Amino acid sequence: MTASFKTDQPVSEVPALDYDAIVIGAGMSGMYLLYRLRELGLRVRVFEAGTDVGGTWYWNRYPGARFDSESYSYGYSFSQELLDEWDWSEHFASQPEIERYLKYVADKFDLRRDMQFSSRVSSAAYDEDSRCWAMTLEDGSQYRSRFMITALGLLSAPTMPRFEGLADFQGQSFHTGLWPKQAVGFAGKRVAVIGTGASGVQTIQEVAKSAAHLTVFQRRPNWCTPLHNRSIESDEMARIRAGYPELFELCRKTAACFVHTTDPRGTFEVTPEERQAFWEALYAGPGFGIWQGNFRDILIDRAANKLISDFVADKIRGRVNDPKIAEMLIPTDHGFGTRRVPQETHYYEVYNQPNVKLVSMLETPIERITPGGVKTSDADYEFDIIIYATGFDAVTGSFDRIDIQGVDGQKLTAQWQGGPTSFVGVMVEGFPNMFMVMGPHAALGNNPRSIEYNVEWVRDLIGHMTGRDLTVAAARPEAVKQWADFVRQKAEGLLSNEIDSWMTGVNMNVEGKQTRTLVRYSGTAPEYREWCDNVAARGYPELRLG
Ligand code: NAP
Repeated sequence: MTASFKTDQPVSEVPALDYDAIVIGAGMSGMYLLYRLRELGLRVRVFEAGTDVGGTWYWNRYPGARFDSESYSYGYSFSQELLDEWDWSEHFASQPEIERYLKYVADKFDLRRDMQFSSRVSSAAYDEDSRCWAMTLEDGSQYRSRFMITALGLLSAPTMPRFEGLADFQGQSFHTGLWPKQAVGFAGKRVAVIGTGASGVQTIQEVAKSAAHLTVFQRRPNWCTPLHNRSIESDEMARIRAGYPELFELCRKTAACFVHTTDPRGTFEVTPEERQAFWEALYAGPGFGIWQGNFRDILIDRAANKLISDFVADKIRGRVNDPKIAEMLIPTDHGFGTRRVPQETHYYEVYNQPNVKLVSMLETPIERITPGGVKTSDADYEFDIIIYATGFDAVTGSFDRIDIQGVDGQKLTAQWQGGPTSFVGVMVEGFPNMFMVMGPHAALGNNPRSIEYNVEWVRDLIGHMTGRDLTVAAARPEAVKQWADFVRQKAEGLLSNEIDSWMTGVNMNVEGKQTRTLVRYSGTAPEYREWCDNVAARGYPELRLG
């Protein structure tokens, strides 16, 4: 479909707009968008479903939630004042500290005065005549703006399993991604956690500390590696602060904007002893080093991937007392790093505790949720609390939950049915004046770094338009195709793209998302930025501006 728009209507005849730009979402992306769009003198409104800022870090307040990336690399970098003022207390900050940080940012830049909370956008339609977006909130109120910018987050549409009897359970139940603000106590309680992705792992290791009994229902195990978190004392924070310029420069250079850099050597280019020593050091080191800072071929070469998988499997065996439980925790359906690697702190040791039981849902599937707990194919379990750590309808799910209609009433869900397409993850063909931050096929990884880049690119584009009295920007079909080809080319040969996970668009709990699609751009962030910078430098020829 070709995006058409009318350029013969004088702007003076266009009905009054409520805002120049409406941003959907007040997480890290939406907050920064507001800050940057204000600089252009635009009237901006941010609609947010939650009651305050934070997005991912507002909703995911489950026990044990924390950064898996180094705190100081995962905050904003745009304000020297902010960098000077904020002290991180841990190398991998916990959710309460992250939420405090984001509230501090909102206060510091007076962001809330242009934000409207408890306001979920239910639909949005592009009006060709007035070249604007009309948005409707769940309460029925309507707003019109020239630009609509989605800041929805990649992982913000939580999904529940499709078990029978979900509503029958008489105890308390929670999804990790919709965790309540009031404290939930586990002492003396029989608790179930269903799901062992990054959220489940963080939850399990925390709940196991106080629950009377914890039962973990695991379908496919993941390869988890130690986080090695520790506190940051003031002298260390001073050193980190002094090193911010180099830190952010490093993040600009690495493939996925992390502080960890791929080792240029191949797995088989070193001796077995060197390899073992290297991997021991990575396993003993913090964060994603073992995933993002490993030999260059572990995620593309099957033999290399098998070796590192064997190394991590042995670590698991060494940490879990019961050999049968250890084998249950070792993935056999995918190699190390081909799904997002959960970061853990004494996770495997949890299974040595007498109050913890691991149930394999591959061996004994859950048949239904009962009023008292969970019925599997071989047992009935009684629980006081069930925690669903069952993940998200990732990347496109939060778009699907809004009825978004572009030119000629074309629905975004229909257009993306076979997998999303976009222009650099920011624009969609047939949806003029809609910009996405962290949309499908934008660079991911260390997300705040990518968010800042995306926001600044959108700000520059809108600045380019408003400075020339341009009122429409539409992605040209050939540009969308070119980007799709590049995304496809970059995905070739990656072992992760042969595996079912949210990173390949699979969610068994969501109708129509059972097969793999290309939802992710897998090239490097520097390549992505080069492409986008080039578009801007040439005056956006890939877009139809009018
Ligand atoms: P996830 O990785 O998709 O894991 C969901 C888990 O629930 C999987 O173990 C899955 O099993 C299981 N599951 C889902 N539906 C099920 C069903 N019907 N029956 C049985 N088991 C079911 O979701 P997540 O743990 O929420 O993590 C998602 C992403 O969020 C992460 O990969 C990461 O990018 C991000 N995250 C980041 C942090 C951080 O940075 N600190 C923390 C948490 C999450 P299968 O694997 O068998 O499908």
